[in-house]
Amino acid sequence: MTLQANYDVLVVGGGPAGVCAALAAARHGASVLVAEQGGCLGGMATRGLVGPFMTCYDKKGETQLIRGLFEEIVQRMVAIGGAIHPSKVRAGTCFAAWHVKGHDHCTPFEPEALQFVLDDLCREAGVGVLFHATFLQPAMEGSRVAGADFATKGGVRRVMARVVVDATGDGDVAFRAGAPCELGDPARGGAMQPATTFFRIGGLSEAAVEAVRAKYPQDVFCFKTLIAQARAEGRWTLPRPHINIYRGVRDGEWFVNVSRLNGVDATDPASLSDAESEGRRQVREILAFMRDYVPGAGGIRLMALPATVGIRESRHVLGEYRLDIDDVLEGRVPDDSVLVCSNSIDWHSGGKDAAGTVYLEVRDGDWYGVPYRCLVPRKVDGLLVAGRCVSASAAAAAAIRVMPPCMAMGQAAGTAAAIAAKSGTAPRAIDAASLVAALRADGVFLGE
Ligand SMILES: Cc1cc2nc3c(=O)[nH]c(=O)nc-3n(C[C@H](O)[C@H](O)[C@H](O)COP(=O)(O)OP(=O)(O)OC[C@H]3O[C@@H](n4cnc5c(N)ncnc54)[C@H](O)[C@@H]3O)c2cc1C
Repeated sequence: MTLQANYDVLVVGGGPAGVCAALAAARHGASVLVAEQGGCLGGMATRGLVGPFMTCYDKKGETQLIRGLFEEIVQRMVAIGGAIHPSKVRAGTCFAAWHVKGHDHCTPFEPEALQFVLDDLCREAGVGVLFHATFLQPAMEGSRVAGADFATKGGVRRVMARVVVDATGDGDVAFRAGAPCELGDPARGGAMQPATTFFRIGGLSEAAVEAVRAKYPQDVFCFKTLIAQARAEGRWTLPRPHINIYRGVRDGEWFVNVSRLNGVDATDPASLSDAESEGRRQVREILAFMRDYVPGAGGIRLMALPATVGIRESRHVLGEYRLDIDDVLEGRVPDDSVLVCSNSIDWHSGGKDAAGTVYLEVRDGDWYGVPYRCLVPRKVDGLLVAGRCVSASAAAAAAIRVMPPCMAMGQAAGTAAAIAAKSGTAPRAIDAASLVAALRADGVFLGE
């Protein structure tokens, strides 16, 4: 790739939101650079080993809500044997860790397939991708973000752009540019959802796990009785009383979501560092438990550790609208909605030390909308946000933080950024109706 000094659109962060923002902007005619601190695209889905994609369907499990780029990416992975289409995956099965609520039509995928597909899509769309580039600070022109500085192996590089999209998950660009942000949940002293180190295991057949489940029918989720026994014997110290194991695309492979890192602040380098090593310590404890206590799991092997600890929550950038719990529960769909989704409020841990999870489904209707205004930060110009850090209360963010809505937010932000860059209009001033029309034309479902 050739690194230019100027782009129409600069996307910071190449996770689910950032890649979709970059692709959408490029397909709408913008010159685009996505700058990513790691060496691959996909964010938590690849570097964090997080999966499956949570539901992209409505609450009834009848209509696929998240389509557009998300659907295209899934179909590309299916074509190379790296994913199972969500239409074929039902709740209450091994692919959903036997969860029922909110887990219908998940998408199991292989992180390697996602890396391949995202590389291909960016190449085909002409998106410039700068890996190993860590955002340092915005280049400000008054209140407008006009570019950014990145730490690279070649020293600091400055890239200028007409519009910048912050898809860092942590709102790094917005925060440094002076946009108002909330860290965690201010109503609970800034408490944030716990972090988790995902990992991937092989050598455990679906039949073996089903046999254990049949032996302990009282355990809705995996290995609860065995974990209680291990805890009594001092072999299980984790807060969670069960293991979420999601079957991968191939039988024998599982993604394990159980480690619990409370009180981690992803914006604090020391806290983040401690989380990485504690996460790996917990992984070893979980592996030892499985090998010693779970019948049939004696020969499991660790296939992969993630390149980064999984962060569920950090900064929420305050935008022109702040999505709140009632918007989700009451199924509100404002006129400027850029996506509709049904994802439940999956709010891990009511407090820093609690093990519990608050789980609330949409109450009225089958889906809710995320308005464009949630992507437009207050006070700062030339900037859009997409993904985990968009403007939402801690409770509402606990619903829209999952990957399908993040990808849809990215597609919306990228489309809006291209419209703004090409027309010389500030992102907050673009016509939302035109944006909505452009998204519909690109296969985004926004209700009939
Ligand atoms: C433990 C855990 C379990 C989860 N389970 C599920 C699940 O089962 N299904 C589901 O759909 N979702 C799940 N999620 C949620 C989901 O993975 C994330 O919320 C989602 O990936 C957010 O997408 P994003 O693009 O906003 O951010 P990210 O995926 O975090 O991507 C951000 C990208 O920006 C890059 N970046 C960050 N800062 C900088 C910087 N300063 N400079 C340059 N690059 C930077 C990162 O390297 C990364 O590539 C889970 C999350 C966690 C942590």
